[in-house]
Amino acid sequence: MFELPEYVTLAEQMNKTLQGKIIRCGQLGNSPHKFVWYNRSHEEFERLTNGKKVGEARAKGRWLFLPLEPGYVLLLGECGGKVLYHPAGSKAPKKYHLYITFEDGSFFTATTQMWGAMELYNQGEEANREYVKGMKITPIEPEFTFEYFDELIDELISAGQRSAKGLLTQDQLIPGLGNAIAQDILFRARVHPRHPINQLNPDQRQALYHAIRDTVHEVIEKGGRYDEFDLYNNPGGYIRIMDKNALTRPCPECGGRIEKMQYLGGACYFCNNCQN
Ligand SMILES: [Zn+2]
Repeated sequence: MFELPEYVTLAEQMNKTLQGKIIRCGQLGNSPHKFVWYNRSHEEFERLTNGKKVGEARAKGRWLFLPLEPGYVLLLGECGGKVLYHPAGSKAPKKYHLYITFEDGSFFTATTQMWGAMELYNQGEEANREYVKGMKITPIEPEFTFEYFDELIDELISAGQRSAKGLLTQDQLIPGLGNAIAQDILFRARVHPRHPINQLNPDQRQALYHAIRDTVHEVIEKGGRYDEFDLYNNPGGYIRIMDKNALTRPCPECGGRIEKMQYLGGACYFCNNCQN
């Protein structure tokens, strides 16, 4: 699944490659997929996107906003899979959930693996979509300060039990983070995934805050994770520290054995010696 760094990378690449292109034909998927969320019929999507010009893309959390001017915004959200640009003359993928052809013969496709939103809004109405409306501050915004993060933890503690992994992956409390990047953040902060947030000491809060910002920025700089693909079908340059491959390597910090557990909707990889 794409997380914030992958969406930021896709948006930057769209601005280099797609911005200014005129749509000849916009089509929804040819492959039935019950977990793709559309808000338009095929006919409607085709009619509304015809002749529109691609504006400046932006990413927020796990959502990508692509203006189709004048008047519309295409929203891609909470998806994984492939979001690809194809130069004129390329071979089209057999299955897709979105297929937009431009006047210059190049085209753009999106194919999601698990689920995902591919929705077209009248400009401005995208802000009211569930999960977009009221989204909390994301880690790349200037407002994501330590003071903000510290208060967020205090608020969550008063609302009930939560673990460090839950803080990073549940309810989009820190929008854009997901199960993949959370592993590296927790390792860098030396915090155990199950560590209750009401038992984080001030140093651990600082460590988590800095690990979130540093990891997100590093993954963005490297063009996304190595296990996801960018707009040009190239894997990202960020090699994960804690994923299934970590099981075959010693802990980069202490040389100990990396462990795996299933916890909160996904596998966790961690070092029991380094992460407390
Ligand atoms: Zn270790």
